Amino acid sequence: MTSCFALVVAAGRGTRLGGPLPKQYLPLGGVPLLRHTLKVLASHPGISRVGVVIHPDDRALYDEAAQGLDLLPPVAGGAARQDSVRNGIESFEKDAPDRILIHDGARPFLSHEVIDRILAALDEGPAAIAALPIRDTVKRAQEGVSVDTLDRASLWRAQTPQGFRYGEILQAHRAAKGSDLTDDAAVAERAGLPVRLVEGSEENFKVTTGDDLLRAERVLAQALGDIRTGQGFDVHEFGPGEHVWLCGVLVPHSHGLVGHSDADAGLHALTDAVLGAISAGDIGAHFPPSDPQWRGAPSWKFLRHAADLVAKAGGMIAHADVTLICERPKIGPHRDAMVARIAEILAISPGRVSVKATTTEKLGFTGRSEGLAAQAVATVRLPL
Ligand code: MG
Repeated sequence: MTSCFALVVAAGRGTRLGGPLPKQYLPLGGVPLLRHTLKVLASHPGISRVGVVIHPDDRALYDEAAQGLDLLPPVAGGAARQDSVRNGIESFEKDAPDRILIHDGARPFLSHEVIDRILAALDEGPAAIAALPIRDTVKRAQEGVSVDTLDRASLWRAQTPQGFRYGEILQAHRAAKGSDLTDDAAVAERAGLPVRLVEGSEENFKVTTGDDLLRAERVLAQALGDIRTGQGFDVHEFGPGEHVWLCGVLVPHSHGLVGHSDADAGLHALTDAVLGAISAGDIGAHFPPSDPQWRGAPSWKFLRHAADLVAKAGGMIAHADVTLICERPKIGPHRDAMVARIAEILAISPGRVSVKATTTEKLGFTGRSEGLAAQAVATVRLPL
């Protein structure tokens, strides 16, 4: 069995977009752009491990982008792209994979088909890269005046991933140290390795400018055009205790909530809403109350499971809205913490989470403070 590791290059400062964040961390569909890239690579069956080269100043941003993904520890980049890549390749040396795919963090729409083509080409030779032919006529110009028309038949636009036999690209990078080459294929060419071109894709573009980011949002919106809504409802009874768990936050109270797990009605309702949006049954089917392993379980595990199912389906959670129905405890002082906690569990931005509270004007079981109810609506975007 041939082993292949992926190295994602995300150490650039990306100042061309002019924003406060390096471009690979800008939000795309509400999550860091880099996260889209990482998920594509981490979910490909032919790739056993994924590592990322980052700028050391970006560690907190990286941790947010990589949350919940099974990745190797990040590696610090160097002064230039080539140094960053070399650091990343070196970091795999103890595991010595047979192959390595090197990919730009700012190309979020890499498809598994392109990866498949590169891996197939690596059966035939030591290096293969994604590339596209040039359709436009290409001019060479001096001071704005065309002086020559080039033969485009031999010209290609290089993309990433660029795939290599591991040992050969490691040696090539070590030998090329100090030269200023703009991609890893150039490093391989310098070492005399034949670099095979395989078909890339127009959607596998690099997000470099503000226009690219708008295009990326359009591509994502189109790709995730199957919009689903799910709703959930849950009730738990008050009982002895000094606190309740609500929306993943510990709230001091004169009573506790009775339940098999931590009785967090807010997260239970939201879990059911997410499951409902993807037609995946209900919380009881996934976590049977009869199963002793869920006794006292923290309910964030249930919600994370539902979010994982959405991710496995290639979708994203666009919005979550929870309403807590009770006279006491007062929710207002804890609302921001609840929003932050749900956003963390779902790995989406807090702007996509809402927590509200209401009473039933002292009517019914919530009005008599016998118990507490929660409703939730989740909006999920799935691939068309
Ligand atoms: Mg419940």
